[in-house]
Amino acid sequence: QDLVVSFGEMLVDFVPTVAGVSLAEAPEFVMAPGGAPANVAIAVSRLGGRSAFVGKLGDDEFGRMLAGRLRENGVGDAGVVFERAARTALAFITLKADGDREFMFYRHPSADMLLAESELNLDLLRRAAIFHYGSISLISDPCRTAHLRAMEVAKEAGALLSYDANLRLPLWPSAEEAKSRIMSIWDQADIIKISGDELEFLTGSDKVETDVVMTLWHPQLKLLLVTLGSKGCKYYTKDFHGTVEAIKVHPVDTTGAGDAFVGGMLHRLARDQSALQDERRLREVVRFANVCGAITTTKKGAIPAMPNEAEALEFLENAERH
Ligand code: ATP
Repeated sequence: QDLVVSFGEMLVDFVPTVAGVSLAEAPEFVMAPGGAPANVAIAVSRLGGRSAFVGKLGDDEFGRMLAGRLRENGVGDAGVVFERAARTALAFITLKADGDREFMFYRHPSADMLLAESELNLDLLRRAAIFHYGSISLISDPCRTAHLRAMEVAKEAGALLSYDANLRLPLWPSAEEAKSRIMSIWDQADIIKISGDELEFLTGSDKVETDVVMTLWHPQLKLLLVTLGSKGCKYYTKDFHGTVEAIKVHPVDTTGAGDAFVGGMLHRLARDQSALQDERRLREVVRFANVCGAITTTKKGAIPAMPNEAEALEFLENAERH
């Protein structure tokens, strides 16, 4: 039982060919599948793990293209449904000169937001060793209700719940609403991954220090991870905490690094959950996740840049030698 089921949005990203120009000045865009939960499912499968995606796509060319990408990458699609009354979501991205990204979403509403509880594949959810999700699917109904139900079904069947807050502020009615919704399911998760920016958003402090991070701890939590880009990742469990340095690379495009990181971590934990109680083994899991994140920054795009297991292991070996 090592199936990772990832729930949420899959959409088409339009990525400008040049950085440092405004959206309206971008001369061209490259089309790329996106959506963090779908990326995570693909990352797991690329590494040789078993994964499935649960979500709704538009019954349109974009939706069928995205479903094709899941299948080509070996991701189970038994939880994918199609919507006739709404289109597949689109996101136009601005690449800022400092490497940051801004998103402009077309979701009015989009198909992903219309996934209903009655459309959930309960058998698939019950087979999950790990059930992974973000917060975008919490923004509005019916998807929010479907999300909450899916979490409940997976948890009852014994899955670990994995949560990547993945804040996308422009999608929320207000920052307060984003924070309270993100926190509304906080204490159900077994594993939580946030970025340094999300830590600041949720705690109000820009200090990545243990007492700040620990304000986000909850009694049932098994692992809290704070990813810090080129500064690596901090991990916290009830018994130990520490930092695993990033691998030194020359980043070309950091899109998808966080998702590849989560994919690498969940792939390993799905096969060996006991690593959550053993610091040495947990550090190996985080190191492997860092490798997956680092590799993904060295090539353009998210999905095309994600490593397979042989690439990740070779990269890890080289990094250890230097
Ligand atoms: P995303 O940009 O995909 O939303 P994120 O903010 O969720 O990512 P990051 O902290 O940027 O997550 O990256 C996740 C992991 O990927 C990091 O912990 C690190 O291991 C690796 N990584 C990201 N950027 C770099 C980098 N510049 N150099 C080396 N490793 C990196």
